[in-house]
Amino acid sequence: MDIAPGGNPVRRSGDQMNRNVVIIGAGIVGLVLAKELASRDIGVTVYDGKKEVGEGACKASGVVSVGGIEGTGMEYKDAIMNELRGAVISAGRRKLEVKSDSVKAYVFDRERLSRMFYRQAVDKGAEVVLGARMGREEIRKLEDPVIVGADGAVSTVASAFGFPGINEYALTYKKEYREAKVDDKGVVGVYFDRSAKRFFGWTIPYSDSVVEAGIGISGNGRRDSSTAFRKFISSGQAKEVEGGKAHGRGFASLIPLRTRSITALGNVILVGDAAGQVKSSTGGGIVFGALCAKVAADAIERHMRNGNSLAAYEAMWRKRYGRELAIHRAVHNAYSLLGEGGMEGFLRMGSALGLGGFLSRHGDMDHPSLMLKRLFSG
Ligand SMILES: Cc1cc2nc3c(=O)[nH]c(=O)nc-3n(C[C@H](O)[C@H](O)[C@H](O)COP(=O)(O)OP(=O)(O)OC[C@H]3O[C@@H](n4cnc5c(N)ncnc54)[C@H](O)[C@@H]3O)c2cc1C
Repeated sequence: MDIAPGGNPVRRSGDQMNRNVVIIGAGIVGLVLAKELASRDIGVTVYDGKKEVGEGACKASGVVSVGGIEGTGMEYKDAIMNELRGAVISAGRRKLEVKSDSVKAYVFDRERLSRMFYRQAVDKGAEVVLGARMGREEIRKLEDPVIVGADGAVSTVASAFGFPGINEYALTYKKEYREAKVDDKGVVGVYFDRSAKRFFGWTIPYSDSVVEAGIGISGNGRRDSSTAFRKFISSGQAKEVEGGKAHGRGFASLIPLRTRSITALGNVILVGDAAGQVKSSTGGGIVFGALCAKVAADAIERHMRNGNSLAAYEAMWRKRYGRELAIHRAVHNAYSLLGEGGMEGFLRMGSALGLGGFLSRHGDMDHPSLMLKRLFSG
């Protein structure tokens, strides 16, 4: 495949013959899907507007549960920067510690993780075309039997084919601090701070001396995440950052906080952030995006081999993961409604009732339903 001036792919009839599935977007989720399809001998071409895989991936954070990253079925170990055992959740003057003896999650170098996923997809036989940003018109003209939008939170594929919009996003801002004094590099900080409307502030240690701080905001009205971030940092809550030196520039980005009401239309499906398959409670999208990519691979395979409708994808992922994502949404709604003051009260009550200990033993960052089961089964 050649790239024409302007970065657009030149399409040839020869390529057309071998190509079965086109994926727009070589992010984590598009690459998991590409590897899955290529492993099943289904021809797949991925287009991405970026010149390098992983470019800009550091706009997002890289915390993924141990079970969640294993579930992607991808090699990931070389991209681990740090291991996490717990979190300290703060609101006002209250703190709740949730700590485990075992490693619960990893902090990944997102660029390296993307490059590793890219290599694995290509090694299995997927074609990845970089520097190929696809416009709406171009996408509409694609004649391939299956078109997948894995093109992130603001999906051009979704708008090209008239999918319904995503109802809520978090606007984020994050920055890295070096020479910081991180007390416990195994613990992330979660801050229900008044500057973080309908979301939260966070600190994620990369090592004993490097930490990322970030914030998300949502809701109606004009908001600016960098201003919210400045307020959050100057509030002095994120102690890990104190004394550290801001490194590089900060990054603003978007996290979808709701799933799209439709993710399959004719021969077009959406996966990952494009479908809003994100845990609204935390903004984590890698685990469910990758799980849904695997569901997409099953549905696409049945469509290609047996002529089954691609609408099965929608039914399948909602059946498997819809309830879990809905619980994350309920958690997001609950803390948004409570705000900083209400969360302070909640943490006070939680501490009295031993919530920290319960979460340390049974907490599951991906599957809250398992935790609820344990809670109600005594
Ligand atoms: C600040 C922040 C922190 C986060 N922290 C975490 C975390 O700790 N853990 C976690 O699990 N998740 C986290 N997330 C969410 C996570 O980053 C996403 O859910 C995940 O990256 C989604 O992957 P994706 O492949 O669906 O989309 P993306 O990673 O957005 O990839 C989409 C790709 O499509 C390409 N593209 C877009 N439009 C076009 C086009 N028109 N033509 C061609 N190419 C196109 C882009 O270049 C990009 O490479 C965070 C997000 C943010 C913003």
